[in-house]
Amino acid sequence: MLGRHHLSISVFTVLPFIIPLFFLNTQNVLVYSIALLVAVVVGSLLPDSDCGGKPKLYYDFGIIYDLMIPIQKIVVFLFKLSGIKKRLNLQYEVNHEHRGIMHSPIGILISSLLLTLVVLIFMLIGKFTNLITLSLIFAGLVIGQLLHILEDSCTVSGINWKFPFGTKELKGRICTFEKQEGKVDIRAGLYQNILGGFSFLLLLGFSFKLLDFSPYLIYLGITLIIIALWFFFYSLSKSGNNIWYRDKEKVMTAKRNWNRMQRNLVKNSFGSDHSHHRKKHRRKKKYRNDVDWIMKV
Ligand SMILES: [Zn+2]
Repeated sequence: MLGRHHLSISVFTVLPFIIPLFFLNTQNVLVYSIALLVAVVVGSLLPDSDCGGKPKLYYDFGIIYDLMIPIQKIVVFLFKLSGIKKRLNLQYEVNHEHRGIMHSPIGILISSLLLTLVVLIFMLIGKFTNLITLSLIFAGLVIGQLLHILEDSCTVSGINWKFPFGTKELKGRICTFEKQEGKVDIRAGLYQNILGGFSFLLLLGFSFKLLDFSPYLIYLGITLIIIALWFFFYSLSKSGNNIWYRDKEKVMTAKRNWNRMQRNLVKNSFGSDHSHHRKKHRRKKKYRNDVDWIMKV
């Protein structure tokens, strides 16, 4: 799955749980929610640091990408240490392969711990240690990464959740790369839009005070809806029906038209003073999208 899909699907899965907090009017809660959300964004891109190329993380969070390379080496080293493979009777050799240890719950736990440790060191140096923020960063990194491998579980390459202890693989039939020449799978975009739509509805509901229930009831409802959506997404990813594949050129044209419409809206509301800056930004963004497209991770 593409980096930008990992990012948007993961954020839109977590956002519904954070939206109710925005309406509590407690400043601390808001700061903590943002810390969690940023960690989810970073977490959703972390596992692909094992792909050997230059994933979205490399372009958007270069410092963290640079940190992940030694972290991955440490994780692999820990598994090689003192014959753990033999002692734990592991099914797999742990090395630097793509969708190996960095795409498994045990690897996610270790890499999140190591990255949080780095944040703690920075906090200690800057003398602003805050344990709640630190725990939220750790939780966000774990959640973002787990969502990443859940999303990868919907693709044809699949995920071995028990790696390196077992062989059970979860896989769907979503093709991030082109299955047939000129065709593109629209499901990742669809999941992103459905989840984004749910967040938007929640935002509207709270803004107009339509969701005036007890917090317990609201959170129960949100949890059930998100779980149901994910069951739906996973079963949808198993379908091999051709309706999910669209002409790549048509999808690109539709996207371009949508972007142009958005830009015109922005231009009309802000004037065209920044058109040069926008053009430059667009070019940069296009380059990144192309790279993202080529990476196919
Ligand atoms: Zn991945």
